[in-house]
Amino acid sequence: MFCYQCEQTAGGTGCTKVGVCGKNEDIQSLQDTLIFGLKGIAAYAYHAGELGQKDAQVDAFMHEAMFATLTNVDFDLERYLGLVLKAGEMNLRAMELLNNANTSRFGNPTPASVARGTKTGAGIVVTGHDLLDLYELLKQTEGKGVNIYTHGEMLPAHGYPELRKFKHLVGNYGTAWQSQRTEFDDFSGAILITTNCVMIPKDSYKDRMFTCGIAGVAGVKHIKNRDFSEVIEKALAQPALAENPHPQDAFRRGTLSTGFHYTAVLGMADKIVKAVKDGKIRHFFFIGGCDGARPGRNYYTELAEKVPNDCVILTAACGKYRLNGRDYGSIDGIPRLIDTGQCNDCYSAVKIALALADAFKCSVNDLPLSLVVSWYEQKAVAILLTLLYLGIKNIKLGPSLPAFISPNVLGLLVEKYNISPIGNVDEDLAAMLK
Ligand code: SF4
Repeated sequence: MFCYQCEQTAGGTGCTKVGVCGKNEDIQSLQDTLIFGLKGIAAYAYHAGELGQKDAQVDAFMHEAMFATLTNVDFDLERYLGLVLKAGEMNLRAMELLNNANTSRFGNPTPASVARGTKTGAGIVVTGHDLLDLYELLKQTEGKGVNIYTHGEMLPAHGYPELRKFKHLVGNYGTAWQSQRTEFDDFSGAILITTNCVMIPKDSYKDRMFTCGIAGVAGVKHIKNRDFSEVIEKALAQPALAENPHPQDAFRRGTLSTGFHYTAVLGMADKIVKAVKDGKIRHFFFIGGCDGARPGRNYYTELAEKVPNDCVILTAACGKYRLNGRDYGSIDGIPRLIDTGQCNDCYSAVKIALALADAFKCSVNDLPLSLVVSWYEQKAVAILLTLLYLGIKNIKLGPSLPAFISPNVLGLLVEKYNISPIGNVDEDLAAMLK
């Protein structure tokens, strides 16, 4: 990076002002945080825009914040902190915008039990977050003898009335995005990727994989204008899928629950409040966020397994595949596992936390609620900034803390928000339940 202050390459041999000029690591850390956050906001705003909804304030902020990352000559740490928190505020607006865009087009999600695995016949598995792509594909495949499956981040589609009305949207296949290479290899039908997160495909399935919209992979056919005829042709030309070919794999049998939009959860608000007051629900845990292949993420599985039976787990995003494969039962008719959706549905999780605080006439920080967030990158960063903007404290973050957070910035986050890394499951659980 060229430093405009001392007119040298920052940190290079000619740099004489390390720590003062372009190499200020705290400004750099906040700028990097801002850039990751902006990427997350852009993802939400893009999907809302595809459904015709825009927000002038969000758009203006994108320009202002991006411009503020051009150089590192503004040493005003407070100003960058302000921008980072404003990114959290703008992300909340963008998430709300997307929620409104999705629900006005496809209806308010309601809880759904989704079959896992495959059925006999032709099939297309769809991943990514673009509900409009899925809707168009469902319309174009109607009556053609092709079953449609959701993968990974597309699971919440089953909660939306205008999507699940299609009888050939038959279920969910696979788990989170980082398992695509194994799971797509085993899926003999066509594969449609509507957004990244996407793994670089194996040659074994590259010719039956397609991208559309914002997604793109070198060597993979890109579909334009939501005309999915080539995808449908490919699915019909493939050997028929078998009925749950490997029953030994957990992800090919049983059901998953999803669709707990905040309107559905708030419909149970009286029951939830009563269960808490009667001492039947002791604590709420939000366990979720992005997922990845890096070791250490089994923490979330183990934590969910050890959460006591008088506690409720809220989840969202790909991290839920670490814990949603088992039956958690219910408390007085309230499911112990409440899946609010994908990273694109995190607005619901925020609304539920705010509504609970309202019902108990306290702040979110005073609720019997612990947030244990797994992060990967952009959207998780944007959501974290939203939680900080809302003043939410005591978040546990893992599997490790972001490398772009400098020691000083981390110190500030700890001091102001008491953010801490995940550690030992038993010790963390005991501390959170205290
Ligand atoms: S939750 Fe995170 S990892 Fe999963 S699809 Fe969304 S952005 Fe990607």
